[in-house]
Amino acid sequence: MATMNGQTLMLVRLYCSDGTIGVGEATTIGGLAYGAESPEGMKLAIDTYFAPLLIGSDASRVPALMAKLNKAIKDNRFAKCAVETALFDALGHRTGLPLSQLLGGRVRDSLPVAWTLASGDTAKDIDEAERMLAQRRHNIFKLKIGRRAVADDVAHVGAIKKALGERGAVRVDVNMAWSELEAQRGLAALADVGCELVEQPVASADALARLKGRFPIAVMADESLIGPASAFALAQVAGADVFAIKTEQSGGLQAAQQVAAIADAAGIELYGGTMLEGSVGTIAAAHVFATFRHLQWGTELFGPLLLTEEILAQPLRYQDFQLAVPNTPGLGIALDEDRVRFFRRDKKQGAAVAVA
Ligand SMILES: [Mg+2]
Repeated sequence: MATMNGQTLMLVRLYCSDGTIGVGEATTIGGLAYGAESPEGMKLAIDTYFAPLLIGSDASRVPALMAKLNKAIKDNRFAKCAVETALFDALGHRTGLPLSQLLGGRVRDSLPVAWTLASGDTAKDIDEAERMLAQRRHNIFKLKIGRRAVADDVAHVGAIKKALGERGAVRVDVNMAWSELEAQRGLAALADVGCELVEQPVASADALARLKGRFPIAVMADESLIGPASAFALAQVAGADVFAIKTEQSGGLQAAQQVAAIADAAGIELYGGTMLEGSVGTIAAAHVFATFRHLQWGTELFGPLLLTEEILAQPLRYQDFQLAVPNTPGLGIALDEDRVRFFRRDKKQGAAVAVA
């Protein structure tokens, strides 16, 4: 999809008149490679359009504030997610409750985390999977395929599944690269080599629906899901076995919960997706996914593990194939202020949204 040698995190810091501070993050994959929002564009939108709507409002009424923003501002789903995260983080500090509790209550304290193998080199990917298994960090592997001929991709997937056996689950993400006919051949062959799930093999939701149930392999929607309305449309045509829910793509934390509710009602299973957020956005998503009644396919919340730099005082806890969801107020994290200052592009200190 994109080769990234660096990542720009867009962090929001929200100051409230009672002294509480909330943080949120919105981050994109490869600048504008995945969607219409970029880190620079989101900062501009928040400073110019979001902040004036927030200043003077009651920061504890998060759903009301989000409704106000949604009425005045079209799209900008990622930026809205960051602002909503900051509002909930501040509310958590104000009330002493973790985000997952504010979002209705958690049903789990840690989340399984898959790992993506994307080199395309079979031997290299097997080595990497073996390392992850040995470290007990990941035992679910998602392979990015779709660039080569279907038969070559299937051979690559089959070889990796054969090497890992029952020790590791193997799934693929085609990122819409196949035609419907290629997908028919691909899904049949992938099921034969032991691949358990295929993510967004084709672009069209109708084609997804036609593919679902034809082969003994789960079909997951990712790019087709851009919030509750799209989730409802997809559920109506029984377009997927599984939804990959992303908080930013959904347009926020509560919107992601609405997508999950639609899936539950339609008998569609759930997976917690990522936009490769850093630690702040990742742990916000973790709090949301911790509230899902069902999370049959785990998550891919590995964004922070791809980064070589840490901006938290205490890094997120990944162990025994799981990410721990903090139980302290708000997001349950603390920024390392020196590191944040170091990475700021303008090297300035303050400047943020103020809410009375
Ligand atoms: Mg995907």
